[in-house]
Amino acid sequence: EASVQQDVSATELKDDKGFKGHSMLAPFTAGWQTTDLHPLVIEKSEGCYLYDTNGKKYLDSLAGLWCTALGGNEHRLVDAATTQLKTLPFYHSFWNRTTKPSLDLAKELLEIFTASKMAKVFFTNSGSEANDTQVKLVWYYNNALGRPNKKKFIARSKAYHGSTLIAASLSGLTPLHQKFDLPAPFVLHTDCPHYWRYHLPGETEEEFSTRLANNLENLILKEGPETIAAFIAEPVMGAGGVIPPPATYFEKIQAVVKKYDILFIADEVICAFGRLGTMFGCDKYNIKPDLVSLAKALSSAYMPIGAVLVSPKVSDVIHSQSNELGNFSHGFTYSGHPVACAVALETVKIYKERNIIEQVKSLSPKFQDGIKAFSNSPIIGEIRGTGLISGTEFTDNKSPNESFPPEWGIGAYFGAECEKHGMLVRVSGDNIMMCPPFIITPDQLDELISIYGKALKATEERVQELKAQ
Ligand code: PMP
Repeated sequence: EASVQQDVSATELKDDKGFKGHSMLAPFTAGWQTTDLHPLVIEKSEGCYLYDTNGKKYLDSLAGLWCTALGGNEHRLVDAATTQLKTLPFYHSFWNRTTKPSLDLAKELLEIFTASKMAKVFFTNSGSEANDTQVKLVWYYNNALGRPNKKKFIARSKAYHGSTLIAASLSGLTPLHQKFDLPAPFVLHTDCPHYWRYHLPGETEEEFSTRLANNLENLILKEGPETIAAFIAEPVMGAGGVIPPPATYFEKIQAVVKKYDILFIADEVICAFGRLGTMFGCDKYNIKPDLVSLAKALSSAYMPIGAVLVSPKVSDVIHSQSNELGNFSHGFTYSGHPVACAVALETVKIYKERNIIEQVKSLSPKFQDGIKAFSNSPIIGEIRGTGLISGTEFTDNKSPNESFPPEWGIGAYFGAECEKHGMLVRVSGDNIMMCPPFIITPDQLDELISIYGKALKATEERVQELKAQ
């Protein structure tokens, strides 16, 4: 996940009992943290709770990493995995050989995605692989159509699309690029649709959306529409700070994209399967994509799996190449892994049986209103969210232009306070993000809101102290 988490208490936690760090080159972790700090080691889960190796209990406000939608001990998923492991732990899907769970899951996904017509599903192991696959599909498609110059991608500032070379390039968060020689030159970034932070004085949300759509069109015209292949967007931006789109944004953006024969890719890795109170983010914002990326809640994270949904427009062209090229030569050993597919099938079955959309819709007001009730805090610039996803941005004087000095580590301080009180949140700079499991109960939401409130109070005091210094 993007950006390095600062830990203001690093020096206090330094260990003089011979701790020399651990052996992992840890993802999205600062080098000094792996040597100077004990990692938080999570040992077991129970519903929405996690336990560390000292037995301390935490409410998991982020559903793992935006993914364990059914919480930590859904036995049906364990059974689905075990049954499949006993029957057929592995067979691949290359050369027109495959397994039943992968065929069944592909069929199921095509049935439940109704925002636009989809014809085929390509399986991956992760969201990053899904987005890398998107780029290859789009290039293949344009090559097949005899448009070898239509190859550039437009993504958005603050987007998160993963961390493989291409997915990190599509992402619009500078820490993913710095020192990695990224983004790749075929990727362009357009505006982040964050109204509160970026609107001009007096500009309405609708006017802001119009301006962003105009900026996108100008970028396309400047580069040459014949060079732009695809536009990629998360329906609600996740790791960039939980940013729902401003009013009329996707309507206007889609019109521009369509005008220049540019494919629309919806990165639904966080938003899919009910997170926003609709089955997919595309349903909520009336997005009609040509391609869709899925992962995370697809299996409630019990097994790694991702998927790409491909519209007939694209799949027909790919299909048409088979006489000339033979195989579609792209795939992973574990594309359509039968155990992952069996678990994902059971996960989707549970979402449908339990009417997960209604469940999220009924929990959402308590969650959103509960957190938004803290909006008056002098250190909170904005609280945003929808469904069961929420972001808080700390700034001074409620102004998007008055960030706290990064060395104050305000976000990290809030995160550490939550941890102290028994809750894990996602911290990125001065952004706090939460995305609890769908199975969270009203009582557990009360607990979440209460811990948030305590951490906020401590953080407000901390700001006062720092200002007095
Ligand atoms: N797209 C989005 C919108 C994501 O939030 C993420 C992960 N946070 C990814 C892609 C990458 O998925 P993965 O980490 O499974 O590669």
